[in-house]
Amino acid sequence: MLIVQKYGGTSVGSLERIEKVARRVARSKDDGNELVVVVSAMSGETNKLIEYAHHFSRTPSKREMDILLSSGERVTASLLAIALQEMGYDAIAMTGRQAGIKTDDSHTYARIESIKTEALTRELEKGRIVIVAGFQGISESGNVTTLGRGGSDLSAVALAGALKADACEIYSDVDGIYTTDPRIEPKARKLDFISYDEMLELSSLGAKVLQNRSVELAKKMGVRIVAKSSFSDSEGTIIAQEDEKMEAVLVSGIALDKNQARVSLRDLPDRPGIAAEIFDRLAKEQINVDMIIQNASREGMTNLGFTVPQSELARAAKVIESTGHKIGSADYDENVCKVSVVGVGMKSHSGIAAEAFKALASNNINIEMISTSEIKISMIIDEKFGELAVRVLHEVYELDK
Ligand code: ASP
Ligand code: MG
Repeated sequence: MLIVQKYGGTSVGSLERIEKVARRVARSKDDGNELVVVVSAMSGETNKLIEYAHHFSRTPSKREMDILLSSGERVTASLLAIALQEMGYDAIAMTGRQAGIKTDDSHTYARIESIKTEALTRELEKGRIVIVAGFQGISESGNVTTLGRGGSDLSAVALAGALKADACEIYSDVDGIYTTDPRIEPKARKLDFISYDEMLELSSLGAKVLQNRSVELAKKMGVRIVAKSSFSDSEGTIIAQEDEKMEAVLVSGIALDKNQARVSLRDLPDRPGIAAEIFDRLAKEQINVDMIIQNASREGMTNLGFTVPQSELARAAKVIESTGHKIGSADYDENVCKVSVVGVGMKSHSGIAAEAFKALASNNINIEMISTSEIKISMIIDEKFGELAVRVLHEVYELDK
């Protein structure tokens, strides 16, 4: 089998950890696999490099940041290759450029455009273990680029796709994707399988496991991911196309997003163009609007409510105050959160939403806003009930079973 393995920051967080990873890689090689291993920088290293740059400048040039930040991954790639060589394995370390990863030239957030796999394939044919520095590539103009925070996952998925690997194993310090955050609900259970779409909706649950962009790419390229822990030998969670799923599950998980704030605009003139203008201005400021509710109008006036990330509320308020329209009143509430119930089974079942509403109601939790998609129900509620709501819903859908 041709396997792409990726080890995250904590998995290679110390020299001892790198040694352990080397042993794990060696074991897989001994099993007869061809291996491409993508590594992150040692945990904390990328942040440290960013701090170094900020010592000299508040706005360091992005081109230079990319040269700086790409070095973290090169350290681990070369050390891992050296460790493997010392154990008697033929290993070779490569930078993103050497591995053929071509990107556009948006420094610090580059997109992978293509991968030239010749060099990689040549090394694999020699029987070598190829270690690739994650998170980086090279632009058309020959500049080093990086792929955005957490971008080593993206490197791994893209390489697995380009090489048509048989498996893409992503190792972190968590042993998979859980039905909810185990710190909130200790009865949370590790899932054997989750579809790409569910995973994207549950991104907050998988945040420490997989970067979101890499899940999108895996879906696009049809790369089947196994998320595992490098600290244990447990099975992990498979992330793949939903039709691979053996049994139809209604609900896969419950997510809680505390980084939400609500904006309520009252007594807006109800005529064409008002919503367009408000949301256009917010978009231009790159403020992500999530849920939107507009009430039926009365006497030519209407109310409009929406949510934005809490960290963007102050900017959103500024935008609204500068719209110049006669908004009767605007109020802002930071103390809200979003609870989401996610499952592909919802597509073919009705009544799942009603069950969620009933469960929250019987616990006296008021729902302020609701939005749904084919596979998700999200509810905005008072932040102080967020964790309770997660436990209540986890129980209702019997996710511990
Ligand atoms: N080292 C980079 C970061 O911290 C990329 C990665 O770890 O995937 O964002
Ligand atoms: Mg990571």
